[in-house]
Order: sequence, then C-alpha cells, then structure tokens
Amino acid sequence: MDCLFCKIINGDIPSKKVYEDDHVYAFHDISPMAPVHILIIPKKHIPSVMGITAEDKDLIGHLHLAIQHIAKEMNLDEEGFRVITNTGKNGQQTVFHLHYHIVGGRQLEWNM
Ligand code: 5GP
Ligand code: ZN
Repeated sequence: MDCLFCKIINGDIPSKKVYEDDHVYAFHDISPMAPVHILIIPKKHIPSVMGITAEDKDLIGHLHLAIQHIAKEMNLDEEGFRVITNTGKNGQQTVFHLHYHIVGGRQLEWNM
C-alpha cells in the first residue's frame, strides 16, 4: 500500500523511534511544533478516526495506554501535554494513516 506511515512502520522510510510494541509505533515528527512532538500510530492501516471500527476497540485503548507510557518516558506527565488527531479536510489531516500527535515541552495555546 502506498502509505507514508506504513512505510515508516516497515522501515522503508527511516524514522526516529520513540516506542514500539506489537500493535503501535511512535516516532519523532519530522517538523516539530514544540520541544516534544511525537507521532503514535497503530501498525494496522486505518485511514483516520472515521475508519475505526468496533473490532479496533482494544487497539485504540492500547494506543492510549502507550501514550501514557511515552508521556512518562518523555517527562511530559507532570506539566502536561496535548494529544491531537487531525481528521479530514477541515481538520487539516495530511497523512491518511491514523496518527495521534503528542505535543509538549512548552506552554501550549489554544487558538484555531
Ligand atoms: P497531519 O497533518 O496529517 O495531522 O500530520 C502529519 C504529520 O506527519 C505532520 O506533523 C508532519 O510533519 C509529519 N510527517 C510528514 N512526513 C513525515 C516523515 O517522513 N517523517 C516523519 N517523522 N514525520 C512526517
Ligand atoms: Zn498506512
């Protein structure tokens, strides 16, 4: 499949790995918007939040526990951070493999 993040998972495109297990992969965003900017993705190709089905419930829960783990590893847990998943055109999603941005390491604003 011609998917950038599937190619990152299988190593065809290099990435700076932060965390990996059987179901998820996390790596540094190539264009960070904060001191910490990590992307976490399911290894299963799901195009966006709107492609999640009931059979993915365990996977999505697992991914959120991995977010917690990464937040602690990156020392984001005490001061806080943001988890973002851009969806579709108005959400400005650019890569159509479900991914969650983990952004932190500075005070974030909320202006869209
Ligand atoms: P989106 O805009 O779909 O929410 O997020 C896609 C993210 O993927 C962007 O933050 C962009 O910087 C990141 N990205 C795009 N291409 C690459 C790449 O080849 N490697 C890495 N590590 N990140 C990428
Ligand atoms: Zn994919």
